[in-house]
Amino acid sequence: MSFQNPVFIPGPTNMPEELRRAVDMPTVDHRSSLFADILHPARDGVKKVLKSAKAEVFIFPSTGTGGWETAITNTLSPGDKVVAARNGMFSHRWIDMCQRHGLEVEVIEAPWGDGLPADRYGEILAADTGHRIKAVLATHNETATGVLSNIAALRRAMDAAGHPALLLVDGVSSIASVDFRMDEWGVDIAVTGSQKGFMLPAGLGIAAFSPKAMAAVDAARLPRTFFDIRDMAKGYAANAYPYTPAVGLLNGLKLSTEMLLAEGLENVFARHHRIAEGVRAAVAAWGLELCAQSPDLYSDTVSAIRTPAGFDAGRIVSLAAEKYGVAFGAGLGEVAGKVFRIGHLGSLTDVMTLSGLATAEMAMVDLGLPVRLGSGVAAAQEIYRAEPNAAAKAA
Ligand SMILES: *Cc1c(COP(=O)(O)O)cnc(C)c1O
Repeated sequence: MSFQNPVFIPGPTNMPEELRRAVDMPTVDHRSSLFADILHPARDGVKKVLKSAKAEVFIFPSTGTGGWETAITNTLSPGDKVVAARNGMFSHRWIDMCQRHGLEVEVIEAPWGDGLPADRYGEILAADTGHRIKAVLATHNETATGVLSNIAALRRAMDAAGHPALLLVDGVSSIASVDFRMDEWGVDIAVTGSQKGFMLPAGLGIAAFSPKAMAAVDAARLPRTFFDIRDMAKGYAANAYPYTPAVGLLNGLKLSTEMLLAEGLENVFARHHRIAEGVRAAVAAWGLELCAQSPDLYSDTVSAIRTPAGFDAGRIVSLAAEKYGVAFGAGLGEVAGKVFRIGHLGSLTDVMTLSGLATAEMAMVDLGLPVRLGSGVAAAQEIYRAEPNAAAKAA
């Protein structure tokens, strides 16, 4: 693997130099005012990225998985019922975590490649007249399949059912890359991490709580210590942490949110969309198909690409790594060996993306797939030529 090449895995993502430098800082006394000047702007920055005026943002030395645990342990009690759709590996893992915590999970099985079925959620909630269901779990962007689901539609289904359950959303591979409207969509907890849209190393688990989620915290009975947001909230009130914070990463997060907001969130989303359109044009030119079943589900942060039946897609990933020093994502779970994934989120430009597409082509041709060298690159070039590139230059 060459450090010169960008990575094309859907997280951890490429790090801009400014953020690498921001993370690499001398030891800071986390009980000094210097820390307050990092902590609070980082939390405020995340809130703006979430388009929330009301959320309380909690940041743990952890990862997205810790964000899931923060969400469930602070709002739910053993035996509580939750409803979650499984349409890929990440939604599966969150369900598994709930089960291991002694929650009763009503699982909606959805095909891998499909979105979250808002109508099925709605039916289940409407039937739950006793309101035994305490939370609805939703994975906004299923990173295993490259499927972006419609959280606004899920909120509408919840409202139509008149159900008071909390809406807990995994936005680990969507937040800071595609539009996320915490308040407008009535999201009660938004979960993410530092190493995807925020373009930082792994090491922070982020969970933003709505006022309604905050109101559920004291009654929740699932055991929690490290992830108890009440301890964290007390720490924040004193410009501190209940334990030792990851100061460098928080400094990086502060700068990351500043960079995203300076580029303009809508420009960030437009850049991701344009880059993704180029990747999708390349996939079509290769004669291959996406795992995502229809265009309304296409993710602007990751594409999972189906390879011909009988061909092990993992070979593309291995060969690209070994021969060309470029990382792509392997297929996970049900789609292992059937898809390879191109991550296209975070700090990425059109030109960087072309290098990934060119590499994927070389690997596929090396392995005897009927792909013509340059075909996908040319298709993406047409997209990138045609679009104004101002946002990409700022990235
Ligand atoms: C990456 C990812 C996670 C897991 O996050 P970690 O930071 O690896 O713990 C969870 N959900 C989704 C959708 C992801 O893409």
